Amino acid sequence: MNSKRVAIVTGGSRGIGSAIAERLASDGLAVVVNYSSSPKAADEVTQRITDAGGEAKSFQADVSDADAVKGLFDFATESFGGVDVLVNNAGILKMQTIAETSDEEFGRLVDINLKGCFHTMREASRQLRDGGRVINLSSSVIGLRMPNYGVYSATKAAVEAMSAVLANELRGRRITVNSVAPGPTATKLFLDDKSDELIDRLTKMSPLERLGEPSDIASVVSFLAGPDGAWVNGQTLRANGGIV
Ligand code: NAP
Repeated sequence: MNSKRVAIVTGGSRGIGSAIAERLASDGLAVVVNYSSSPKAADEVTQRITDAGGEAKSFQADVSDADAVKGLFDFATESFGGVDVLVNNAGILKMQTIAETSDEEFGRLVDINLKGCFHTMREASRQLRDGGRVINLSSSVIGLRMPNYGVYSATKAAVEAMSAVLANELRGRRITVNSVAPGPTATKLFLDDKSDELIDRLTKMSPLERLGEPSDIASVVSFLAGPDGAWVNGQTLRANGGIV
């Protein structure tokens, strides 16, 4: 029987998710690195973790598929004995005005960013061991009200709302549920589809005058997942260098 606390990190194959997976493993948790379409990248993350003396396994599941998410939780329990921490990190971004957004694109964003978090939070609320943690990745663009982020912001605002309610629903089990809202962070999701001029402008928006690094966000998730974060519950923590 594994005595370690166990974390599932959705979308752990790259970007912020891989930094979170590696950070939680170095904090002493056994980690399931979930991915949807990048097995090689996910295996590289688990290899780096095991090379550093940690415990990790990768598992393919599209979070928008409820049965696949059940399979993800079953895999974590079979591999490591249970689940203590869920990090809902998997997400997609499509920058476009509301006028330009097709029904299909709206559906894709909602299916992965919102329904995906619903699927995992539902399993977590049924299966998380007492004293567990749920940490959902939101976004600081909700506060910035920037053009082209309308549907994306809406999915994240809905996730924040659902997190706060789940924190109340889990009363009596010592489980906290929080959201972390990064600002611009140097990953594929942020850098794709943007001109150099826009990247430069977004980089300088924060008074700290740099982009966030995945490790900046992983530090906040580590705090919320660890003993020092135990009294923070039902909150959204913006980690963005002061952009908003
Ligand atoms: P990223 O580099 O594009 O990585 C996204 C991850 O999500 C990948 O591991 C990808 O795995 C996975 N993923 C995508 N669709 C999935 C699905 N249907 N099921 C399971 N996994 C899926 O993105 P990131 O920048 O690290 O973003 C991580 C989170 O932070 C997202 O929720 C994002 O909205 C949020 N965020 C990011 C920023 C930023 O500036 N980067 C700012 C605010 C909030 P595969 O490659 O296998 O598909």
